[in-house]
Amino acid sequence: MTTTEEVLRANESYARDFALGYLPMPPARKLAVVACMDARLTVEPMLGLKTGDAHIIRNAGGIVTEDAIRSLIISHYLLGTQEFIIINHTDCGMLTFKDEDLVSELQRSSHTTAVAPAHFYAFSNLEENVRQQIQKVKSHTWVPNTVPVRGFIYDVTSGKLSEVTL
Ligand SMILES: [Zn+2]
Repeated sequence: MTTTEEVLRANESYARDFALGYLPMPPARKLAVVACMDARLTVEPMLGLKTGDAHIIRNAGGIVTEDAIRSLIISHYLLGTQEFIIINHTDCGMLTFKDEDLVSELQRSSHTTAVAPAHFYAFSNLEENVRQQIQKVKSHTWVPNTVPVRGFIYDVTSGKLSEVTL
């Protein structure tokens, strides 16, 4: 059985006991989180959040990409979130390579070039990366100053968050 088949089977039992069908669309706790996709981060339990509480926007690195900004703007203006959090983490895979090396390797092995993605956003300094993501959100002209934007590093060995200040 493939993992896909396994998870479909798991969903059948999940749906059998499902009792959250009453939840409204806007996040109850008015929070949006941008976090790395790393499999060791289970964002809701890490933050004491329940289904329906927050928007969780995830990608490789927890990067404020054009698409993450798109989601944050929709989250705030259309669905009422009032606070933003960015979470990067220790031992992130994005610390292990450089954009140009990956691009060269992909071009070499595929014998083609590609216009997208324009960037992979690998980084070498975790704290600095978090600061850059905070700044990208805060400086966006469509993100109002009334929305606090805070950034954190999650320690994958301890489960603890520590704040990164600008
Ligand atoms: Zn990561």
